[in-house]
Amino acid sequence: MQTIVIVGGGAGGLELATRLGDSMGKAGTARIVLVDRWPAHFWKPLLHTVASGKRDAQAAQIDYAAQACEHGFDFHRGEVLGVDRAARRIALAPWLTDDGVEVLPARSLGYDKLVLALGSVTNFFGVPGACEHVLTLDDVPQAEAFHQRFIDGCIQASARNAAGAGLDASLDASLDTGIYPGLDAGLDIVIVGGGATGVELAAELSHSARTLARYKVHALDPVRNVRIRILERGPLLLPHLHPRLSKRAARHLRSLGITVCVDTTVERVEAHAVVDNEARVFPSSITLWAAGVEAPAMCATLGLSVNRLRQIAVGPSLQSMDDAAIYAIGDCASFVCPVKGTVPPRAQAAHQQAMFLAQTLAQTLAHGASTAAFAYRDYGSLVSLGPLAAVGVLAGTVGGRKFQVGGLLARWLYSLMYRKHLMALHGFARMAARTVADWIGEKISPSVKLH
Ligand SMILES: Cc1cc2nc3c(=O)[nH]c(=O)nc-3n(C[C@H](O)[C@H](O)[C@H](O)COP(=O)(O)OP(=O)(O)OC[C@H]3O[C@@H](n4cnc5c(N)ncnc54)[C@H](O)[C@@H]3O)c2cc1C
Repeated sequence: MQTIVIVGGGAGGLELATRLGDSMGKAGTARIVLVDRWPAHFWKPLLHTVASGKRDAQAAQIDYAAQACEHGFDFHRGEVLGVDRAARRIALAPWLTDDGVEVLPARSLGYDKLVLALGSVTNFFGVPGACEHVLTLDDVPQAEAFHQRFIDGCIQASARNAAGAGLDASLDASLDTGIYPGLDAGLDIVIVGGGATGVELAAELSHSARTLARYKVHALDPVRNVRIRILERGPLLLPHLHPRLSKRAARHLRSLGITVCVDTTVERVEAHAVVDNEARVFPSSITLWAAGVEAPAMCATLGLSVNRLRQIAVGPSLQSMDDAAIYAIGDCASFVCPVKGTVPPRAQAAHQQAMFLAQTLAQTLAHGASTAAFAYRDYGSLVSLGPLAAVGVLAGTVGGRKFQVGGLLARWLYSLMYRKHLMALHGFARMAARTVADWIGEKISPSVKLH
């Protein structure tokens, strides 16, 4: 029996493991193994809602071990460090607890076919100071770290305001040596990058700042004192959308009190400021970098052809150009479609590639080969502008035409994307039950997570 190892249980990898487990794993025609560094899956497009406190990541996660048990695959927790292509084995780092105690030693796993679904990491483009001073949104711990800094920053700025205005005699100048010293009253949040991640986060943060004021977590004016700025290098936000939609998104953000700075190229990042190439200084208590992604460093160490973003070059079968036993899908793969060009790093691409491989790997194992070629279909793109609005474009649904959508309808369609992902993993009935449970949860919990 052949072993198919999938590394990375994200948008693409977990769906592939689930589909292959259901078809071949349960039938006993192949052993399917999923490896991930974390114990549970969280759908990455929702990370900005964890960062803003709107969503509790723990409640929305899917345990890999439980999913594996129900869907006929094995799960191994561990960080993959490298691949011995000659011996067809992957090397896993020792698994350590938070305080450094070894749970499992370094191990290796054998494979017949290896699927790399490693996702992507933030690309700092070599900007000085970025790596040291910014926060990023690559995974749940990073999103939770941002959320904590946001809450702490609001509380501290509020206390500094109260001390400065003589409102609270118990607070003194020692506050100035706090975690965000030397800044004027208020909290300055700078988001570098006006793509979907930056725009979605800015809108959610603006709503969270208002809710936290309502809860009296801080006494700041949520618009005047919680200053959110987006710095975008290009002339428009959301460059992948039609300019009309980009302008609509910018108008919406400005109506929330967010400052949108386009044509602003960040030259360096300091501990409490971001400086652009015209020497303008943007004060910053918290800087979030959302300016682009690249494949994880490991992709460039495997002796496989990669592009300048370290994405593994794959052909129409999604096999790497250099090793027929290795496939790559999702953000870590580079597939250039002869007609439509490069497939973008999106959840819908990872989903389509997972569906494609689930079929072709079964054919390959049964008949020795598959002649199917992957074709990416762009169904459009939706960007959330907070709880009640979104903008975007729907493509390929009615006669291949494109429709621009906005407002509440677009926001509702946006929320369907996640439901579609849940349906791929759990089936319709459980997705529907979870939707009802989420709805009830939203009604009975605080609308912003406080800890
Ligand atoms: C805030 C945000 C909003 C987004 N919004 C959208 C959107 O609206 N629409 C859209 O289409 N796309 C969106 N995206 C992009 C989308 O999330 C990605 O394109 C998609 O998740 C890629 O799927 P993937 O399977 O390639 O990787 P991921 O989903 O990133 O999964 C990668 C997995 O690999 C694991 N892994 C990585 N390295 C190792 C290792 N060495 N060892 C073991 N495990 C490892 C990780 O733990 C992770 O579980 C958004 C992204 C972000 C950050």
